[in-house]
Amino acid sequence: MNDEKFVEVKNLKKVYDNGHEAIKDVSFSVKKGDLVCLLGPSGCGKTTILNMLAGLLNPTSGDILFDGKSVVNVAPKDRQIGYVFQNYALYPHMTVLQNVMFPLTVGKQKMPKDEAKKIAEKYMATTQITELADQKPGNLSGGQQQRVAIARALVQQPKILLMDEPLSNLDARLRLKIREEIRALVKSVGITTLFVTHDQEEALSIGDKIILFNNGVIQQDDLGQNFYLEPNNYFVANFVGNPVIDNFNVKVNGGKITGSDFEINMDDLDKDRFKRDLTDGEYVLSVRPENILPVEEDGAVSAKVDDVELIGRERILKFTHDGVQARSLVNLETPIKPGDNINLKMRLDRVFLFTKEGERVY
Ligand code: ATP
Repeated sequence: MNDEKFVEVKNLKKVYDNGHEAIKDVSFSVKKGDLVCLLGPSGCGKTTILNMLAGLLNPTSGDILFDGKSVVNVAPKDRQIGYVFQNYALYPHMTVLQNVMFPLTVGKQKMPKDEAKKIAEKYMATTQITELADQKPGNLSGGQQQRVAIARALVQQPKILLMDEPLSNLDARLRLKIREEIRALVKSVGITTLFVTHDQEEALSIGDKIILFNNGVIQQDDLGQNFYLEPNNYFVANFVGNPVIDNFNVKVNGGKITGSDFEINMDDLDKDRFKRDLTDGEYVLSVRPENILPVEEDGAVSAKVDDVELIGRERILKFTHDGVQARSLVNLETPIKPGDNINLKMRLDRVFLFTKEGERVY
């Protein structure tokens, strides 16, 4: 028993038959009972990983261990996993109850109907679909179908639950509601869950931790807030955060960081945040929009406001700096209008510096 590494993926690689290397030497682990989000843009390899965990795809190399035992040679049905697909994959001619019971009524471990019904009813209660028992999936809303799919995955009492973009067919408001429900549900059942999403807000809101992928490579495997506060590299800084981070091209030369109309003295930066010594050259200075704020005094970045966007409690001031769109996140009452000239100041303890290749150096 190794609860810290209940799921362990070691040097996993997947090269598809056409030669495409979808997963490149990926290693990570998941703690027992955790809900971990696999996050990343379309095509980064999230589904490929889930399918290898489920046994629907064979890895090209590497190992997958559940509870300390390798499962790469174990058939999907013997891996004790539940899989909730993006499109739910419910049987349209069966009722909700029949759909949920189905996994218990087929295969080697099939059980008597009344026993299967009892277990199905337990999980239908957990997922709040008891009253839908006699309905056909075609008569259900997206959110209800989602719950049926989850109940059907849970009846087999799997050790691990895999969910592939389970909320993508729902409207925005329902997504918020169901994602809270999913988190509450998997926590109450205590099942170790891997949840695939391309939506950073979804991942931040429900994941105990997040593993962010790009091009088949892990970019960061961390607690949600660290993607925001301590991004590993330029990709992470730009993938996570809404509104997106502001990026300014700068030159580092003789102890100064120079942008098109601003200069930062390196001595004003926090020495402890440097990842390594900087050589002179071209870098990208990145700052989250809430850390570049309008100020009265001069000596900061000056800009003309192109547009002001309202996002609920806050406003985004959009401006162009050195030919690049950038944003400042201010509170709702700020009276700044499009066309206004403003001065902006960055919180130097919150800026990041990246090399042109995306490596974080500050
Ligand atoms: P999405 O969010 O769009 O589903 P994803 O992150 O889940 O994307 P995957 O479906 O795992 O991505 O695909 C990873 C990469 O592998 C993509 O570039 C995809 O085109 C490629 N790919 C997927 N399946 C195959 C296949 N059977 N043969 C060849 N390439 C494939």
